[in-house]
Amino acid sequence: MLFRLGDFYETFGDDAERAAPILGITLTSRELGKGQRLPMAGVPYHAFESYVGKLLKAGVKVALCDQVEPAGAARGLVRREVVRVLTPGTVVEDSYLEGGGANYAVAVCLRSHYHGIAALDCSTGELALLRVEPTDEALGDELTRLHPAELIVSESDRPRMLALAGRTPVSWVDPQDFDARAAVDRLLALLGVETLAAFGCDEWPEALAAAHALLRHAERSHLRLEAGLLRLHAQHPRAYMHLDPATRRSLGLAVDRSASGDDLAGLMVREATTTMGARTLRRWLGQPLRDREPLEERLGRVTQLVQDPLPRGQLQSELRGMPDLERIAARTGQGLATPRDLRALLEALMALPAIRAIAARWPELAGPTPSTSQDGIRDLLSAALVDDVPATLREGGVFKAGFDAELDALRDGSKAAREWIAGLEQTERQRTGIRSLKVGFNQVFGYYLEISHANREAIPAEYVRKQTLVNGERYVTPELKEKETLVLNARSATVAREQTLFGELCRRITAAGKDLLDTAAWLAELDALAALGSAAAQQRWVRPSFRDEPGCEIIGGRHPLVEAALGPGRFVPNDLRLDPVDQQVVLLSGPNMAGKSTYLRQAGIIVLLAQVGSFVPAERAVIGLCDRIFTRVGAHDELAKGLSTFMVEMVETAHILAHATPRSLLIFDEVGRGTSTYDGVSIAQAILEYLHDAPQLRSLTLFATHYHELTALAQRLPRLRNFRMEVREEGERVIFLHQVVEGGADRSYGIHVAELAGLPRQVVVRARQVLSDLEGLRPLERPDPNAQLSLPLDHPVVSELKQLDLERLSPREALEKLFAWQGQHAAH
Ligand code: ADP
Repeated sequence: MLFRLGDFYETFGDDAERAAPILGITLTSRELGKGQRLPMAGVPYHAFESYVGKLLKAGVKVALCDQVEPAGAARGLVRREVVRVLTPGTVVEDSYLEGGGANYAVAVCLRSHYHGIAALDCSTGELALLRVEPTDEALGDELTRLHPAELIVSESDRPRMLALAGRTPVSWVDPQDFDARAAVDRLLALLGVETLAAFGCDEWPEALAAAHALLRHAERSHLRLEAGLLRLHAQHPRAYMHLDPATRRSLGLAVDRSASGDDLAGLMVREATTTMGARTLRRWLGQPLRDREPLEERLGRVTQLVQDPLPRGQLQSELRGMPDLERIAARTGQGLATPRDLRALLEALMALPAIRAIAARWPELAGPTPSTSQDGIRDLLSAALVDDVPATLREGGVFKAGFDAELDALRDGSKAAREWIAGLEQTERQRTGIRSLKVGFNQVFGYYLEISHANREAIPAEYVRKQTLVNGERYVTPELKEKETLVLNARSATVAREQTLFGELCRRITAAGKDLLDTAAWLAELDALAALGSAAAQQRWVRPSFRDEPGCEIIGGRHPLVEAALGPGRFVPNDLRLDPVDQQVVLLSGPNMAGKSTYLRQAGIIVLLAQVGSFVPAERAVIGLCDRIFTRVGAHDELAKGLSTFMVEMVETAHILAHATPRSLLIFDEVGRGTSTYDGVSIAQAILEYLHDAPQLRSLTLFATHYHELTALAQRLPRLRNFRMEVREEGERVIFLHQVVEGGADRSYGIHVAELAGLPRQVVVRARQVLSDLEGLRPLERPDPNAQLSLPLDHPVVSELKQLDLERLSPREALEKLFAWQGQHAAH
């Protein structure tokens, strides 16, 4: 609780002890009598936003308790009231928000048939309702996607939700708040509709109940919930691809937006020119679609923008600098807009016709019909606001002369007095002959005349001394006081008038809130589409096509991030075909560093981008729509939770085997690596057999391994095909070609990689010896019919072959050689 005390916001008691270390401010205390002291810590009023921001970041909720009557008018204590409650999920000011993502407060309602979720971004008015399977896992996956700033959960669900909430701040609320029936009434009123049927969530009691708890929470935070400020989306789980947190991470959809940069989301979002566009694009990337129709529609729009680079560039440059209309509209509705917000709104409305004109060339991209209410607001703002508006309303100076007669009169009324004061220095210098006489102003004494001690003799009699300084003294005159009263009264009356006018202006804008939000949503979408268009054009991506059956065919696929890191012309594109009929499992073998992970992730990224409605990094791509992508790659931060790498691998694998369907794409990188070789090979083989044979699975699978022993599986599993990363040997050297070819790898080249990494020569040589000893012990593997015949380069037959002079060899001698070799090696 921050109490306003004059120029400070103070915290007391436990609050002070908690806030001081977070804010890095001094904890002091105040005498309470009887030797008792009350801890207190304060922050200056003029800078409180940055302090509140720190508290919110630390997950603390902040109540502002302001003086609600002028200190002068109060008898005894000044009356104070809580005017605002700031929580991480209900703030709307830019200073508390990140630009490129949504800021959701999320209410969760646990029920037996489904769990309901309601997510509200107060800063834009977006309200999403959804229901998920009643498991912690399904709920956790959605929460990861939404990345809530704050959770609202029933007190009765505390035990179950504690773990799921993790570090997200939670408001535990009364179970009564989860009231589906009351939610319907609220939503009907707020949305100005007769029924929720059109939104498709009228039969989702658990989601509606969550929505009610959410709206109650917003109200308790003193947010205004008004008709026209809310945009409701019901999200049908079947409409979206389901992605678990591990998969999001490995495909480069960072959950933590501040950490993004070199990932897929970062690559795409940086093409957006507005924060609204960035937010929309992030939402799309986080929720790939599963239905062909909306995908084709989005792709159709992107195609238009790809094909028209010039107008697309114009569009983007018009959009650039467009303020965040969604957030400005939301702040205006909350009565929290600043003069600069309204100025930005005016500039946006003025820029709108140019954007409309460009967008008009693509009929599919046409926006909402231009509304007269918006024109009205534009004209009003343009008549009202000065060009260079101040940051706050505190000092006035927001409105133009001529906009409001009353304001003009107030300003004119004190004009003569202000001019008199302005000229005072000059007239008094002349009158008294004191050339260093100065006129100044401060908060305590108001206007004064300052004269140095040296000129004390010349001071006129009517000067009244007010203050003594080191070098001089400050005086007032009765006339100066009189003019001062005029000026100060006029100033506070002017500021009050400006505040009233500003409030009216905000109300007028809010009345057109729906229109404004529609326009903002259109601009955001336009920008997101243009971003997809320019990503595609710059990186020579192609439009994917879709097929109804599961499977995919990718020609010349590329990994956008590895490609960008390598620079032009260095990335080797690769094909991929997956088909449940004859190539359900692709087993990719090859040494470490050959490019397996890159190939796997690129497949995931291409499918994901296609289902986002983006072009994809390939020459051609046909994608059978997937319900989920699962990835099991690399080790990551779970290590911090105390699980071993291998345990993490197995937990994730178990999760995949339990949830995959024939429509899922499964990506496994080196499963079994975390344990001993024999364990690892055995587990990997058993998983492959299960994926191949279990009828409920038959999922499309990409499985990379450096255990070349696994390639023998292709003999028994007809829908499993061997592929390998091509490697060329030149003497002792091995060159990675990064090319995927059919067939299994026969060696793992681990020692070679060790050598590349710079292990001492001695160690490498010794490792070769140990390897050849071990290989001598091991029974030879059964030959793989898919593999080409290949002999190690140091094989005696190879050395003999090299020495043969074929020009001179007679057929008979050649035949004899063959017999001899056969004789020598028949034992093998
Ligand atoms: P693996 O998973 O087989 O150990 P990675 O996929 O991690 O190998 O690739 C190792 C490195 O090889 C990458 O960092 C990249 O520089 C390079 N690389 C991978 N794939 C390609 C490719 N298709 N074209 C060019 N370079 C590649």
